Amino acid sequence: MILKELISNLAILVALLFVYTQLTNSSPLRRTSSRRQKITAGILSGILSNVLMLYSMPMDTVIIDLRHIPVILMSYYGGSIPALIAMMLIIIGRFLFGFTTQAVLAIIFIGGTTFLTLLITRLKLSKMKKVFLALTISNLIFTIMLTFLSLRMDTLISLVLSYWSISYLAGFLSFYVVEYVRKNQKILNKYKSESMTDGLTGLYNVRKFDQIFNQVCKDAQHRDEKMTLLYIDIDHFKTVNDRYGHVEGDQVLVELSHILTSTVRSFDHVSRNGGEEFTVILLDCSAQRAEEISERIRKRVQNHAFQLATGETISITVSIGIACYDDTTNTPKLLIEEADHALYEAKQSGRNQVCLAQKFAREPV
Ligand code: GH3
Ligand code: MG
Ligand code: MG
Repeated sequence: MILKELISNLAILVALLFVYTQLTNSSPLRRTSSRRQKITAGILSGILSNVLMLYSMPMDTVIIDLRHIPVILMSYYGGSIPALIAMMLIIIGRFLFGFTTQAVLAIIFIGGTTFLTLLITRLKLSKMKKVFLALTISNLIFTIMLTFLSLRMDTLISLVLSYWSISYLAGFLSFYVVEYVRKNQKILNKYKSESMTDGLTGLYNVRKFDQIFNQVCKDAQHRDEKMTLLYIDIDHFKTVNDRYGHVEGDQVLVELSHILTSTVRSFDHVSRNGGEEFTVILLDCSAQRAEEISERIRKRVQNHAFQLATGETISITVSIGIACYDDTTNTPKLLIEEADHALYEAKQSGRNQVCLAQKFAREPV
């Protein structure tokens, strides 16, 4: 029964599409994807079509399967490069089945489907209409090809009916699977990134800070490299909020985040650990160099005119505590405690200060 084989074709198609879409989660195929990714996708879908051909059903003198679906998907998502590669691989694969009239018709079918689908994907139509049109045209070409073969009328009718229904079903189901997996991955990636960043400033949040901190501690010890932690806190920020309101206070926090990211190196890690407290992890950086960087931050903040929505500008200052592995401590995990304590010292010494943790003050005995 033709339906049975076509359904097994459908199962292979959907299962492999699911796996492919999952594996390319981080960078799904698009028209803007790199040439390398397009070529890889084209080769993989050409292989998928050939696998589908291996499971095809010879009926009378025709071989029936869903090889056209991967090509339609490639045209739709990746454009001409992956579609044409998949098409070429199908043509090569079909000739391996034998060089017959049927093979020539099959090549016209896949060639026609590929080129017309590529044209359809350029039309200004909704996603669903494009898919419907591509499948209908492909089914029509297939039916026209069948009429060139001298099949019995009842065979032809059953073939056409079965093929059209399974081709529509497979086409829509494949698109549904790809769209469904992509949509869920997009949402998941968005949630993942949001769970790691601070919504106001876009800097890392405290959860991500902990993760990075643990990793860089291990790396610094492993590579025997220095690493410095800055604890930065805005001075008297409560009065800014009290005087200008919370919304203006938020704007000051955003501007400060820009100053921090533009003052340190691109590979350093800047986080907002909460409220008006920020941290910077300076990689491969000595205490002396960190003091220079901290002074630069302190001065830039002091001299910056923070713009409020009212047009008014205000000035703020920050206090900074520094701890460095292995200049102030031999135990990276103590950096947080040390930097926090140094920040406290900076506040105690009158604010708008940079304070370095005392050398090995907190080493365990
Ligand atoms: P100090 O110099 O001792 O650090 O004084 P301070 O006023 O900065 O410190 P305190 O801890 O007393 O107050 C911190 C203030 O930060 C309280 C709160 O109004 C403000 N704050 C915390 N989180 C946010 C925020 O997300 N947005 C705004 N606008 N203000 C915040
Ligand atoms: Mg403060
Ligand atoms: Mg504070």
